Amino acid sequence: MTDVARRDQLAASLAEVRERIARACVAAGRPVDAARLTAVTKTYPASDVILLAGLGVTDVGESRDQEAEPKAAAARAAGAAPRWHFIGQLQRNKARSVAGYADVVESVDSVRLATALERAAVDRPAPLEVLIQVSIDDDPARGGAAGDELWRISDVVAAAPALLLGGLMAVAPRDWEPDRAFERLAVLSAGLAERHPGATTISAGMSGDLEAAVRHGATHVRIGTSLLGMRNTLR
Ligand SMILES: *Cc1c(COP(=O)(O)O)cnc(C)c1O
Repeated sequence: MTDVARRDQLAASLAEVRERIARACVAAGRPVDAARLTAVTKTYPASDVILLAGLGVTDVGESRDQEAEPKAAAARAAGAAPRWHFIGQLQRNKARSVAGYADVVESVDSVRLATALERAAVDRPAPLEVLIQVSIDDDPARGGAAGDELWRISDVVAAAPALLLGGLMAVAPRDWEPDRAFERLAVLSAGLAERHPGATTISAGMSGDLEAAVRHGATHVRIGTSLLGMRNTLR
């Protein structure tokens, strides 16, 4: 596909996704721009990030360091500077690399990872924003902090000068109704904001369930498939 054809394709799907988000906000009785879009570009090339940035996308999400690091460098070299959100499971030995290009790490689910990021972020010109990924069904197997680990992580991040505690991120468990999952997330978010005022971000909702997430207060939705197309590999 030519660059022009791909740009037209992305422009059309972006318009649809933006319309869907706006409709969901209005249906939820929230301001039309209450939920921001993070375009999940994993498995897609840097050229798509550059085209999306040209179309006005300000935030992109990636889930693997090996893929994101060169992609961010290529986009930067082409003059595209979106905010990079790291949204995948992150090993502590990758903290330094991720802190080098990411603006937000949404997948912090342990005190040990928070501490590694704190060390990795000390030389940054600006603090690294952190969202705590929570396990909505308290099953830590698929990633996400379960039980009281959320509160322990929040205290560590809030006390770290190189980190900025933004709020929460979650993926609805496969076997839960999205509304039930995001309602529970909203309760956790209210608890977090009470403990750490200002940590009010809720990153929730993907291509299949963004409406439910927006109904329950999502401030950021992470959209891949509806924007860029089906991925060949599932992750
Ligand atoms: C891949 C991914 C998304 C995007 O999912 P789609 O269904 O393609 O919109 C969102 N969040 C996380 C954590 C992901 O890994």
